[in-house]
Amino acid sequence: MNFAHLNEYMYNFIEEVCNEIGPRESGSESEKLTGDKIESELKNYCDETWQEKYIAHPTAFLGGVRYGTVLVFVSIIMYWVSLLTDLNMIQLEISWSYIFMIIGIIILFLADSYFVLEVMRYHEVFDFLFPKKDSNNIVGVIYPTKEVKQSVIFSAHHDSAYEFNLFYYFKRFGQKTINFAYIGIVFILIVLIAKFILNIFNVRANMIFLILGIAFLFFLPIFIPYLFFHSYKSVLGACDNLSGVAIILGIARYLSENKKDFVPQNTKVYFVSFAGEEAGIRGAKRYVDMHYQQLKNENTKVVNIDSIATPETILIATKEIIIGVKHEKEIYEKLYEIAKENGINGKMVPITFGATDGAAFSKKKIAATSISGLDLENELVPFYHTRLDTPEVVDPKALGLIVKMCVNYLKRIDMES
Ligand SMILES: [Zn+2]
Repeated sequence: MNFAHLNEYMYNFIEEVCNEIGPRESGSESEKLTGDKIESELKNYCDETWQEKYIAHPTAFLGGVRYGTVLVFVSIIMYWVSLLTDLNMIQLEISWSYIFMIIGIIILFLADSYFVLEVMRYHEVFDFLFPKKDSNNIVGVIYPTKEVKQSVIFSAHHDSAYEFNLFYYFKRFGQKTINFAYIGIVFILIVLIAKFILNIFNVRANMIFLILGIAFLFFLPIFIPYLFFHSYKSVLGACDNLSGVAIILGIARYLSENKKDFVPQNTKVYFVSFAGEEAGIRGAKRYVDMHYQQLKNENTKVVNIDSIATPETILIATKEIIIGVKHEKEIYEKLYEIAKENGINGKMVPITFGATDGAAFSKKKIAATSISGLDLENELVPFYHTRLDTPEVVDPKALGLIVKMCVNYLKRIDMES
């Protein structure tokens, strides 16, 4: 395989989108324009292409972080006024202490639910509070020459992230505070509930609650930056994830230009570029919902690609811990073997931060994995969800290596089918 011209093609695609279209907020016009451009590229290499429109509430996934943070502050105030009422430092009937606690518990429960269900687990419980927008997933297909025995989807996403102020300004420290903040807000909720129950049973532990209340005040410097967690300015997203889109275009182009070398006989090959990944993998979730039966019937295997930057960091995901999915062993082990055989430095690891579109499939028991170029567990690269995610961070050679892995994977499963 000669990848030099393919690497150049893929890298040029990334540069063109960055220069001609720019940032691509989920649900925006520029996201749609990018989708059109991807489809027009796929048309050159696929038997068929189309777009699939879906509706989502793209700002719901992260847009509530600031409101949730305000609710956490209000609940701390409720805790304190309740405590000061208990201590007689606020002259109110003792029943007010209960009212303040109940208000504190309810709003903190809402905030905690938002952070856990929406942000960690990618559910859409609070989406109705945020505006609706439409987006398009882009699909291209290459049909096999003989009977379809299985399908493979090579996927990526073409929307780009809002800039994460927390990461741009506070870097690794900002990332580390996330776990602390999660533990902090759950801890405050537990203390509020404990205080409420003990007060009902007339167990007075004012000193302990005073100390805990003071401790909550020390949490504030950690919580305050969450009011400004992200901006509404999207980043260029050259690596995250035009690199992935470029790779699926590269695979499609390779297959269309190397028919003498290989044509899939029993494997239907899909190329899917999702919208709305940065809005909580909404595009991939809608795709799975829309095609669930077909995905099952066609014995589909999904290889999702996200944020490839350098040949040194190529992770093949075994599971995604935060969202709670396990990927398909048969796929990630095979990809890992192929990487090794080709001298590619791939690692099989669990993803411990965020989630990828691959998770939308694995969650519904469609065989999938993701190949990622971000090792966020060990290193927060400066360009992750920041203005520094420009074409220069992408090494064209890395793109070629992933194309090689995917093409070899396709050849192998087609031969085995
Ligand atoms: Zn991202």
